[in-house]
Amino acid sequence: SFFGGIGGASRKGILVKGSNYLEALAEAEIIVFDKTGTLTKGVFNVQEIHPEGITKEELLELTSYAESYSNHPISNSLKQAYGKEIDNGRISDVEEISGHGVIAAVDGKKVAAGNIKLMKKLNIPCYEGEAVGTVVHVGIDDKYAGYIVIADEVKEDSARAIKELKEAKIKQTVMLTGDTKNVASKVAKQLGLDKVYSELLPGDKVEKVEELLAQKSAKGKLAFVGDGINDAPVLARADIGIAMGGLGSDAAIEAADVVIMTDEPSKIATAIKVSKKTLRIAR
Ligand code: ADP
Ligand code: MG
Repeated sequence: SFFGGIGGASRKGILVKGSNYLEALAEAEIIVFDKTGTLTKGVFNVQEIHPEGITKEELLELTSYAESYSNHPISNSLKQAYGKEIDNGRISDVEEISGHGVIAAVDGKKVAAGNIKLMKKLNIPCYEGEAVGTVVHVGIDDKYAGYIVIADEVKEDSARAIKELKEAKIKQTVMLTGDTKNVASKVAKQLGLDKVYSELLPGDKVEKVEELLAQKSAKGKLAFVGDGINDAPVLARADIGIAMGGLGSDAAIEAADVVIMTDEPSKIATAIKVSKKTLRIAR
């Protein structure tokens, strides 16, 4: 019946890499989600551009150039908004700092694009007020050049996912993100998540999962759901690592125990239902 369970799951677009994970899913108690690309679409639209000392066009262009080698959803969205072809000859010395942003030489100028943490690292004073979305700050030659506000949307399927997990008697739904508290709490409230932790570096996400693992019952299991390259260590640390295959990175799919072949988080509730049914038949 385990083979039947795994086969049944796969027909629903859920790849379970072994019968032990099917069993673990039936005992899931805490489900931890990464935000960007998992509960949200991972497609950011530019909302506002606030340049300082340069034009809006220049700010968007230099930022897109600095971001050109990154595969982060933020980077892809900025390049999309810029819309013109990138001339790689203008770029050198590219560096991506996970959980912070990017630094690159563009036309010989040092362009840094990322969050407040990145600006603090470079000693660049920046805007620290509220914004309607995620803020990308930009420094040029270590001077503040303004910021771009971008916003992602919650997936239509996410609310259903949380509701179905509660119906499946999951004790806690949690969201982890490197994004700001402001953005994170908006998403958490919209979806009715039990807990939310923001402004985390990739390493902090592993620590949070360890904290949560210590809180669950002895036989209860914790699942982490993510899709990014950064998520591989957290996927490995959870009892059940679940990758969203829709937009997921190869590293995440490799590190995961369960792969959801679509971009629908509600498939996690489906997987739990299939596993419980399989175990009932087996026992
Ligand atoms: P999450 O997947 O939780 O949203 P990440 O760890 O990928 O977070 O990123 C956390 C934060 O780091 C982002 O919200 C953003 O502020 C900043 N960041 C990461 N990569 C980039 C990038 N390429 N460009 C600009 N900012 C970035
Ligand atoms: Mg991520």
